[in-house]
Amino acid sequence: MSAAAAATVEQRTGEDRGKRIGVFGGSFDPPHRAHVALALAALDQLQLSRLYIVPTGQAWHKARDLSAPEHRLAMTRLAFSGLAGVEVDDRELRRVGPSFTIDTLEALQADHPGAQLYLIIGADQFAALQSWHRWEDVLEIAIICIANRAHPTRAEAGFDPTSRARHAVLTLQLPLMGVSATDIRQKIGAGQAGLQAVAHLVPEPVARYIERHRLYLPG
Ligand code: ATP
Repeated sequence: MSAAAAATVEQRTGEDRGKRIGVFGGSFDPPHRAHVALALAALDQLQLSRLYIVPTGQAWHKARDLSAPEHRLAMTRLAFSGLAGVEVDDRELRRVGPSFTIDTLEALQADHPGAQLYLIIGADQFAALQSWHRWEDVLEIAIICIANRAHPTRAEAGFDPTSRARHAVLTLQLPLMGVSATDIRQKIGAGQAGLQAVAHLVPEPVARYIERHRLYLPG
């Protein structure tokens, strides 16, 4: 039997039952050290059998234009390469139209029948959850796992979905990390000591990629 046929049989027979599958989406423009720390915390604390890292396609909720999909995908692969159990999934980049998390969750659920999905998000995204397309279905299909962020913290998010969620909403244990992609882009754009200003904020291969492709430099 071919590998593809075996995979199909595996899916039909529900071999993924009981597995824990993590989903961590983001614009990853660029991916930074807090993203990697968050992925590692999720793998460890949730005992995931696999963690999908999903760069967003057309981010309907971000006001600015994102960097080209091929750059964000390449940097995401560099940032997460070598982490056991982690797979970068480009399905949102290949999708035409806006990237909705619920579409990705439903597709992954179909790929892994019987598995439990865990959606990993920072507190800022959690605070905006009620603005997401079909957000109640998101709560239905996945267990939400929140990492605190300096602003807002989970406690400040002002949203308690407990009564709406089919599952519990979990908090990941992760020290507060002030790093953001916005800050990194601004530092590079302002030419602060070249890439040295962000070397401690992004994984080294990502810093080299940014330099080689001259990303985030003004005009
Ligand atoms: P930007 O500054 O461009 O908005 P970002 O740093 O928030 O980007 P994203 O790619 O948008 O990075 O984030 C992907 C996910 O990682 C989101 O759920 C976000 O909340 C979370 N995240 C990003 N940075 C942190 C951080 N420092 N601590 C906790 N969660 C984070």
